[in-house]
Amino acid sequence: MSVEAHIGSLRKSIPQEVKMVAVSKFHPAEMIREAYAQGQRIFGESRVQELVSKQAELPKDIEWHFIGGLQRNKVKQIAPFVSLIHSLDSERLMLEIEKQGAACERVIPCLLQVHIAEEETKSGFTPDECRQFLKSSRWRECTHVQLAGVMGMATYTDDREQVRKEFRLLKSLFDVCKEQFFLHDPSFCEISMGMSGDYPIAIEEGSSMVRLGSLIFGER
Ligand SMILES: *Cc1c(COP(=O)(O)O)cnc(C)c1O
Repeated sequence: MSVEAHIGSLRKSIPQEVKMVAVSKFHPAEMIREAYAQGQRIFGESRVQELVSKQAELPKDIEWHFIGGLQRNKVKQIAPFVSLIHSLDSERLMLEIEKQGAACERVIPCLLQVHIAEEETKSGFTPDECRQFLKSSRWRECTHVQLAGVMGMATYTDDREQVRKEFRLLKSLFDVCKEQFFLHDPSFCEISMGMSGDYPIAIEEGSSMVRLGSLIFGER
């Protein structure tokens, strides 16, 4: 099947209120154009250099999401255009995003990345660190950073109940944070969870945004 066909059939299987991020990392601009021609506008990339060069050559109404580990010294390059950073995982990174957002007079939406998997290798705040981070209120001073929700990656496993348990953990953390810190802030609304291998479970567990790479573009 073509990229067009994959996009079309995924759209049908994903509820309308759930956003689909087409994860185009390592795939050429030409494949992004194919998805774009099908109406896809949200694309996710995990490397700054690759994102910057694709952004320069592709249509300007694309919403670019950054989904990978983000080094502070590279924030400057994406600050002028990035639509959502899914990987805010430290106060130091937030302060840098604040600085670069101020420099280009933008408010940059960010998700708090939370470590929900069993695997040690995945990054993010632990749920406890996430609550502590919000309690510290440093983020309230960052007027160029808008906290827009949470993001997490489940363990890479065939054990569906394990995956479900992890997504549930992220959803309940979101609910607690929403109630404690963002009750009157409609922009804290996203739960970014679900990839090609586990997105149906993520949607059942309350995902608002799935990040799909190989299902759309094939193997990397
Ligand atoms: C690569 C990547 C994805 C997409 O993975 P697929 O399994 O190809 O859908 C989603 N989220 C993050 C953070 C990624 O790095």
